[in-house]
Formats: sequence, structure tokens, C-alpha cells
Amino acid sequence: MMPAHVDTLILGGGTAGCALAGLIAERSSDSILLLEAGPDYGPLRDGRWPRELLDARRLPVSHDWGYDSGPFLPGRRVAYERARVIAGCSAHNGCSAVWGTQWDYDGWADSGNPGWSAGEVQPLLQAIDRRLKVRRYADSEIPPYQRAVFEAARAAGFAASADMNDLTEDEAVAYCPVNNQRGIRWNTAFAYLDAARGRRGLTIQGGALIVRLLIERGRVAGAEAIIDGVATIVRARRTILTAGAYGSPAILLRSGIGDPDALEPLGIPVEHALPGVGRNLQDHPAIAVAFPGSPALEEISAAFERGNWTPEELVIVKARSRHAAESFDIHLFSEGGRVADGSDAWRWQIYAAGLLPRSRGEVRLASRDPAASPLIDHRHLSDAGGADLAVLADGVEIVGRIAAQPSLKSLLGAPIAAPIGGGRRELEAWIRSQVVHYWHPVGTCAMGADPKAGAVVDARGRLHGLADGYVADASIMPRIPRANTNIPTVLVAERIASWLT
Ligand SMILES: Cc1cc2nc3c(=O)[nH]c(=O)nc-3n(C[C@H](O)[C@H](O)[C@H](O)COP(=O)(O)OP(=O)(O)OC[C@H]3O[C@@H](n4cnc5c(N)ncnc54)[C@H](O)[C@@H]3O)c2cc1C
Repeated sequence: MMPAHVDTLILGGGTAGCALAGLIAERSSDSILLLEAGPDYGPLRDGRWPRELLDARRLPVSHDWGYDSGPFLPGRRVAYERARVIAGCSAHNGCSAVWGTQWDYDGWADSGNPGWSAGEVQPLLQAIDRRLKVRRYADSEIPPYQRAVFEAARAAGFAASADMNDLTEDEAVAYCPVNNQRGIRWNTAFAYLDAARGRRGLTIQGGALIVRLLIERGRVAGAEAIIDGVATIVRARRTILTAGAYGSPAILLRSGIGDPDALEPLGIPVEHALPGVGRNLQDHPAIAVAFPGSPALEEISAAFERGNWTPEELVIVKARSRHAAESFDIHLFSEGGRVADGSDAWRWQIYAAGLLPRSRGEVRLASRDPAASPLIDHRHLSDAGGADLAVLADGVEIVGRIAAQPSLKSLLGAPIAAPIGGGRRELEAWIRSQVVHYWHPVGTCAMGADPKAGAVVDARGRLHGLADGYVADASIMPRIPRANTNIPTVLVAERIASWLT
């Protein structure tokens, strides 16, 4: 039976939501209700999880919300993948387990968020690695293409990383640490929720579409959700929003919490003016450089594939652009393997991603309908000085340098579309027409001290100006870290759980 009143109501059973629910269940006697729009497949041991969500080789799209760039990229549509299932994006991501740099967390702390400095979060990052069973691949697990990319990066001047997650490490090339176990994607439901599932007082409800928060006399009193087609109210002592960088601002806006100028045209009564909701959207802009593989590469890859489990993504190069300041500001990451379309075709790519974007986008509502997709306008490469574009162009040039090294040159042909080696202007025009993202949206309910300056929550995840309401997912990161965002998102859950329990 789903309770109608709980101590802690958690809205969104994704990466952060599962971690938070598990931690609060372990550390308190709270009654907890975790609501998630997608299905809950139960504990791993019950065997109900679909195979493609477990298989960490490829990125599945079977449980996707179906968001995309809508009208914002003339002439093309870019998918903004987000998982709709218990464990959220940790159930369909690439399992790269990356921490970032000390400057990321010190930067959060220095921008008015005590408790988030690198020194303070490092023990939590270590605890997360243990929970997520983060590991390094054994030498025998490295596929030939990934090995060739690694060796080419070394030949191009990048040192082999001593520890990819050393927060002080600068430029380097690494086989990325990963959170998969015997090929199973170790999502946050397995890492945090499974052990807590049997506890009294913890209820997990899948198939629950959250409509809005309930605001009563200056406090968040619970939420309304649609469950089995029925509008249902749940009341709570405290309510924590963990619906992700697109979902959390959308729920706040539907609740009348946001910029009044954005709410009124949609006919949403303003409950609480908070202009930062949905703003400050950031992701790492990224560009894929594709290469044709030689018959020799396909042959050795097919031979390797027959005897091994072959991950598609593996090598990450941390590189500096000409705009880099205290540390690296580019990731290059290699992707290689069979295209997941049922054909036997191979795909060989190296992506460049800018890690410190200056551009800022926005999430808005298209309508009050909770089933409607939000409008997601990333505005990649829109910064006035053009630095984001220049960083990506530098990244593509480094990809070209790496691909020209003997270990790769013997296996790959010339880039299929990227005009590497031509003029910078041509390269930048190509990047503008092809730019995508690194699947890392953050920042749309940013934490900070001053709501007038755009902060939505304070350093402890508490909504500014409303009691008993919290946000605790990727949306509260004030600035995107120089890292893939899964571990930093779990860090948000761990940090806030440490203050709530
Ligand atoms: C394809 C892909 C690959 C990635 N690869 C990596 C990687 O290799 N390494 C890495 O570090 N990061 C990776 N990431 C990013 C990382 O997974 C995310 O940053 C992180 O999972 C975000 O967690 P979250 O809790 O903020 O949001 P989510 O995990 O998205 O959780 C939000 C949850 O809320 C639910 N929800 C939303 N709205 C509602 C609603 N109205 N009602 C009910 N429920 C709702 C969603 O269904 C979801 O379960 C990847 C992401 C994607 C999409």
C-alpha cells in the first residue's frame, strides 16, 4: 500500500533519488516514499531487469523520455537522452566513473556553498567508488581499437595517467575507471537501494508521474502525482526533488515556482517567485570525429569480440585548449565497436568535449500538461567571446594529432567529415553544424546564497524561500564539473544525505 503521509518524500527515482532513498533508509527510521515515473524492476537478484539495461557495453534507449532539441537547432534535431526507469540515467549510461578536479568542487564552495570544497567531498567520493564498485579494466580486457587510441595519445605527448581520479592531475590519457561488474551496469538502485529494500517504512512506487509540489503556507507540504491514471496527493514532513536537470525545474515551474514572467503566460499561478528555476543549463558541448576502419582493424576487433566482453567507450584524454587556465578543459573520448542497429557495421569515433562551457541554456515549460516534454534550449557555443567554439576546435585538432600517430594511422582512414587540416574557419563552421553534447546536463536549480542572482537552493539543497522543500540532483550543480556527471550527481545525494540524517 502506498502511504498517504510520510516523513520523507523523494520525487524521481533516478541516479540521485535512489542513492538518497537508500542512504536515508539506512541511517534513519523515517518513513520514505520514492516516486518514479518509470518502472521499478525490483532488486537485481529477482532477475526482472531487462537485459539491455544491465549490459554496460552499449547505451540503450528502451527507457527514454524522448526529449530533444525541438525548435532550437534549425535543420536538425538532437536527442537529449534521459532514462525513465528506477535508477534513472545510471541505468543506461556509459559507466565512466570520473571525479573531475579539485577546482570544480572548490569552485562550488567559493561561489557561496560551504561544505562542498574538494577536501570536504573527497571522502564521500571514495565512499561512492566503493558503493558503485568502481574498477579499472585489466589489461586483457582492453580491445585493440582502444589500445591503439591510448598508445597514439601517448605518442602525441600525453602522459599515462597515474590515477584518472586524482583531483590534482592535469593533462593525461587514461583507460577510464568504470562502474560495471562482470559486464553489468552497476546503477544506483543496485548500489544504494537494493540493501534497503526490505526495510520497514521504505516504499518505492514506479509508474508515478509527478505533477507538482504542494505548497501550503510557505512550505512544501508534499506532492501530487498521477498513478495508474489517478491524481494522488502525498503529504510529507520534507519533500526532496530528484527528477534531474530537465525534470526538476519542470516540476518546480508546474508548481508555480519560478520566474513569474515565464509562469503567467502558461496560466500557472505564481506560488513563489524564484527567477533562477530552469536557467543556468549547462552541458559539455561535444563533437564526434568519425573515421573509416581498415579491414585489419575490423578483423582484429572481431577476433577480440569473439572471446571477450568489449566496452564501446574506454579511453579518455584530458587535454588543454588555448583557453585553459588552472587545469585541462577538454575530454577526448574514444568510441569503437559495432553500431547497435542490428547491422554488422563498425563505427570508430573520437569525440572532443569542452569541459568548462561559458554558454548557458534554459529549460522552460511548453505547457502545464505534466506529460508534455519541456522545452530544452542548450544554446551551445552561444557565448559572446566564442571561447566555447574555439575550445572545441582545439579539441578536434588534438584528435587529428592523435589519429596521425602510427598506432592509429595504420588502422584508420582519414576523418570521414571533419575538415581537419583545412582552415580554422572551415573547421569552426563544421563544428557549429554538428555540435552535440556529452549527456551531462546540470545547473537548472543551481545552489548558491542569493536567489536574486539565480540561486534556487542553498548549499544544503533547501529551496530558497520555502520551508521543507529540497532539490538534490544534477540540477543543483552551480557549474558543470570537468567530469562525466554520474559520480558528481551521486556526490550531491551523499552530501545532502549527510546533512539530512
Ligand atoms: C546516454 C547517457 C550516457 C551517460 N554516460 C555517463 C557516463 O558514462 N558517466 C557519467 O559519469 N555520466 C554519464 N551520464 C550522465 C549521468 O548518468 C547523469 O548526469 C546522472 O545520471 C544524472 O542523475 P540525476 O539523478 O540528476 O537524474 P536522472 O538519473 O535522470 O534521474 C531523474 C529521475 O527522475 C525521474 N523523473 C523525471 N521527471 C519525473 C516526473 N515528472 N515524475 C516522475 N519521475 C520523474 C526520471 O524518470 C529519472 O528516473 C550519461 C547520461 C546519459 C543519458
